[in-house]
Amino acid sequence: MVGALHIGVLALQGAFREHRLALESCGAKVTEIRRRPGDSACAGLENFDGIVLPGGESTVMGRLLEEEGLLEPLRDCARMGMPVYGSCAGLILMCREVEDADGSPMKQPVLGLLDARVRRNAFGRQTESFETRLDVAGAAGDMEAMFIRAPLIVSHGPDVEVLSLVDGPLGRSPAAVRQGNLLATSFHPELTADRRIHSFFLNLCLDGRKGAGSI
Ligand code: GLN
Repeated sequence: MVGALHIGVLALQGAFREHRLALESCGAKVTEIRRRPGDSACAGLENFDGIVLPGGESTVMGRLLEEEGLLEPLRDCARMGMPVYGSCAGLILMCREVEDADGSPMKQPVLGLLDARVRRNAFGRQTESFETRLDVAGAAGDMEAMFIRAPLIVSHGPDVEVLSLVDGPLGRSPAAVRQGNLLATSFHPELTADRRIHSFFLNLCLDGRKGAGSI
C-alpha cells in the first residue's frame, strides 16, 4: 500500500539524500524537487502524495525557493491539504515567524504554513549537536533523536498539536508538532536508523489520499 506513495523531497540544499533513502526504505517512490516543474497553481507538485523539506540551512533554502519560484506553489499545495513534513531547517521554513538565536526577528523567506514562531540555533554553541531519547506521540513512543544546530518552537497557536517535548534552554519545548496535514520535527530522523517518523508521515499521506484533514 505504502509502496504506491509518491513523495517529493526538496533537493535544493541540505540532507535530502538521507530523506530519500529513509522514504525509499519505507517503500515510497521518491522524486527530488530541484526546480519549479510546471506552470499550474501547484506547478506540477500536486502529483505528489506528500512533500518533505530537509534539514540544512533555512536561509539558503528559503532564498533558493524564492529564486526558483517554488514558495507560492508549495504554499498552495499545503493549503489544499497535501501532507508536508519538515525536519530542522525544514521546520523553520514551515513556520509563520522566525527569530534568531537571541530572539530578534529574522526576515528570511519562509512558507509560513505552521501557526508557530521558531527560534533558529536555539540550543546555542555549547550544545550545538546532541542526541537524546524522546517520546513521540503517534510514532509508537520512545526513539533516538539527533539535534544539529536545532531550532525550537517558542510559541504556537491552538491548532498546533505537540507530539514531543525536549529539554532545552527555554525549558521543555516542542520537538515534534503536527497541524493537520503538516508535520515538523526539530530533530533529524533521517540520520538515525529508526523509520517511525517517516512511516508516520507516509500514513498521513495515505490518509490524504482518502481525503482526510487539511490546514
Ligand atoms: N541552524 C539551521 C538553520 O537555521 C538548521 C540546522 C539543520 O537543519 N540541521 O537553518
